[in-house]
Amino acid sequence: MPQTELLIGPATVITNHAATGIVPDAGVVCSGGLVKAVGPFADLRKAHGTAKHLDAEGKVVMPALVNAHHHFYSTFARGMPLAPDTQLRNFKEVLEGIWWKLDRALDLESVAAGAWPPVLDSVRWGAATVVDHHASPSAIRGSLEALAAVCDACGIRAALCYEITDRNGIEDAVLGLEENLSFLTRKSSPKLRGLLGLHASFTVSDETLDLVQRTAPADVPVHIHVAEDASDTKHARKRYGCGVVDRLEAHGLLRAGSVLAHGVHLKDDELKKIAKAGAFLVHNPESNANNAVGALDLVHAMELGVTVALGTDGMASNMLRAAKSAYLMARHVRKDPGMGIDLCRRLLLETNMQLARTLFANPRIGMIAPESPADLTVVDYLSPTPITAGTLDGHLTFGITESSIMATVIEGVVRLDRRGLQGVDLPKIRKRVDAACAGVWKRLA
Ligand SMILES: [Zn+2]
Repeated sequence: MPQTELLIGPATVITNHAATGIVPDAGVVCSGGLVKAVGPFADLRKAHGTAKHLDAEGKVVMPALVNAHHHFYSTFARGMPLAPDTQLRNFKEVLEGIWWKLDRALDLESVAAGAWPPVLDSVRWGAATVVDHHASPSAIRGSLEALAAVCDACGIRAALCYEITDRNGIEDAVLGLEENLSFLTRKSSPKLRGLLGLHASFTVSDETLDLVQRTAPADVPVHIHVAEDASDTKHARKRYGCGVVDRLEAHGLLRAGSVLAHGVHLKDDELKKIAKAGAFLVHNPESNANNAVGALDLVHAMELGVTVALGTDGMASNMLRAAKSAYLMARHVRKDPGMGIDLCRRLLLETNMQLARTLFANPRIGMIAPESPADLTVVDYLSPTPITAGTLDGHLTFGITESSIMATVIEGVVRLDRRGLQGVDLPKIRKRVDAACAGVWKRLA
């Protein structure tokens, strides 16, 4: 915890707090990891003369962002060598040709080293909270602790899990379950929590779902891919005679607070079940477009009462751009140029914050108000027109999501500022990541 007060400003502060709204020429005082005051910058400067000052240069301060679905293990996929005969004609071939080769090549050191780039990138793009979904079948035991150590060192809040799957045999499924359970029972910090990870319906047998239901505590939310590609839905219907969400429900795993990624190919009755259960559907528009699996009708899901959050699915760590992509995809899907201007705000400031509040049992995450966690980001956005409650949607959609991040503060600690990432030894990390990458790529060959 920082001992001294931190004063951020002057800026237009988007508090995301109903009573306070948007405050121009404002400052934010942080102390003890919490926001202590929001108000006119000049007044705060006078009253908190000894506070350390983070100059926001008259730009925008908003709550730090949340990434609702990430894969830290995807680091070494960037530029990875593919076997000469690799075909990437559909989702199954993408999984088999890239992801299932990559995850098998990870040892514990490359899991740990590979987590640094996306965690630091998350901070660089203004995120304070990340929900990760991990796979490393050759190094299952201890993998979540390895990720946790990196998250802890960078100060981010993280919900971690290991994706249980039968695709490498039942022994690995059991090991995956044990890894989740072991992480769930660790003496954790309030910024780290475990979820119950499952890969996807098409790689998890009924026996394994039964085992998970019998063994894991009934109140732990699940994190799983659902209906990302049409093949997942077809597989469930053919093999089990029901949809993927129906399967989870039948095994007691459609739980409140669960994180169901994608849902591109869900039927309305399954979407309604997600809404009723109080689970979250996580939209990953950039990944869906990249994998050519189809496009979620985001607005339709929302209209059915589903709480849809937003993630990056390991492709990147830039939540601002992900929100812009969600907006563009929604308009494209709906063929309607007059809808969805509120989507960036709803995803970034409402549903993603709701997810973080639920997972970390803290209703004050995601707002800049006294006694809320001091998680803030300074956006390098000098607005050409006034930012008010009435204009915020336009600024988010066309300005803020196009801007870079000047600073990221997590629980009152400056993790990024104009000088760059703070509190990390980048040359040392670089060396470690390079060495791990060489090892992983060698094992791919
Ligand atoms: Zn994913």
